[in-house]
Amino acid sequence: MLEKEELWQSVLAQIQFNISKASFSTWFNNTEISSIEEGIVIVSVSNSFVKEWLENKYNKLIIKILHDIDSRIKEVQYVVGIKEERKDKRKKITSIDIDQLGFQELQTNKETGLNPKYSFNSFIVGSFNELPNAAAMAVVESPGLIYNPLFIYGGVGLGKTHLLQSVGNEILNKFKDKKVRYVSSEKFTREVISAIRNQGVKKNSIEMFKEKYRDIDVLIIDDIQFLSGKEKTQEEFFHVFNILYENNKQIILSSDRPPKSIMYLAERLRSRFEGGMIADISLPDTETRIAILKSKAQEKGVSIKDNILQYIAETIKTNIRELEGALNRIAITQKVNNKEIDIDLAKKLLKNISSSYKKTINSKMIIQSVAEFFDTKEKDILSSSRKKEIVKPRQIAMYLLREELGMSFPSIGRRFNGKDHTTALHSYKKISKEVADNKKTDEEISIIRERMATA
Ligand code: ADP
Ligand code: MG
Repeated sequence: MLEKEELWQSVLAQIQFNISKASFSTWFNNTEISSIEEGIVIVSVSNSFVKEWLENKYNKLIIKILHDIDSRIKEVQYVVGIKEERKDKRKKITSIDIDQLGFQELQTNKETGLNPKYSFNSFIVGSFNELPNAAAMAVVESPGLIYNPLFIYGGVGLGKTHLLQSVGNEILNKFKDKKVRYVSSEKFTREVISAIRNQGVKKNSIEMFKEKYRDIDVLIIDDIQFLSGKEKTQEEFFHVFNILYENNKQIILSSDRPPKSIMYLAERLRSRFEGGMIADISLPDTETRIAILKSKAQEKGVSIKDNILQYIAETIKTNIRELEGALNRIAITQKVNNKEIDIDLAKKLLKNISSSYKKTINSKMIIQSVAEFFDTKEKDILSSSRKKEIVKPRQIAMYLLREELGMSFPSIGRRFNGKDHTTALHSYKKISKEVADNKKTDEEISIIRERMATA
């Protein structure tokens, strides 16, 4: 039988591809196998909340993965408490884990926001991303002077972040003294909100925020579509944009859609986005998907049979991250079994990779989950009651309809028995602010999301 640590690592590696990153770190950080005896695996966790979640929501998945790896394993039990004396050892293992699991945040440079693991070297170019790649290279050659802003859009998992980060890293390589800053839209939004909030306390927090952005040479903002509906953040961004632009500083943006399709985006921002270079990443064809798999396998130093690579490429068509996830799953299993696996096992391993654990969420589910969480009735949430214990759940439900489903404010209003779109917009803004300001609300919403994803 495998060593406990190695076994658990391979379980974690697989779980990672079945659930969101946020859920993964919430529920699986600080877990380990404390013993394996007679087919029973004991997993120790840090508190009873986590224990309950693993038992209720993830037990099936954990058992399945364990059983796939070692068919003698029949049962998993969860206990609270991790032995003190093993803390050091665990720390070490965790840091190897983190590398293997690709936890990017931990490697990012605090000042630049860049993660050195992203480079042009590892970026495969095909007809699907030729234009954005060429534009990105041109920007590296002369930042701020040709394509400004550079706006790259494309679907989830198709390499936007990889490309943006590569530009940042490469510019730093080439021009050592340039100030590069990569920031997600969420982070940018949080910074704006806290600058505004602190203005009352520290006189010039907004000024300080502006100053921080004013002397950047290359500003990279990822997933700009999330600024949709966030008026105050858009306003601050507009000023930052203008200052940088006027001083020939490079601005690079990404989005999951073109500027014209981002809803609730101020017209003056939209026209600025459209004023530079817009390049989209489309879908890689089968040949390219195979090339990507080959290159990733090589990077990881594993050899996987061609027919398996072919199979993965034909099965997963629309997302390079999932392609990589599938490859990792095979690679880990090979490593654990210490031999190349065959196509039948590969098919089996990939069968439950995306189907069972990725739920499609709809508006009914959201409203139900919120009602359930706050112990209220769905019909109360949909009513016009002004009671405090109803208003908050209602606002959160509206917020989630917007965030999870991208519903428009008028249609959210309609979903709540014909309320006005301004009510929906107000709720959305209110909760967005609370999520940033109030840890409790933020946690509540994470738990609701989590429950929906694993329901
Ligand atoms: P997005 O930001 O568009 O959602 P990412 O940049 O996060 O996508 O890419 C998802 C994963 O796929 C990352 O691990 C990334 O390294 C990898 N990837 C995406 N495009 C390519 C590519 N052209 N060549 C190699 N790896 C890629
Ligand atoms: Mg991204």
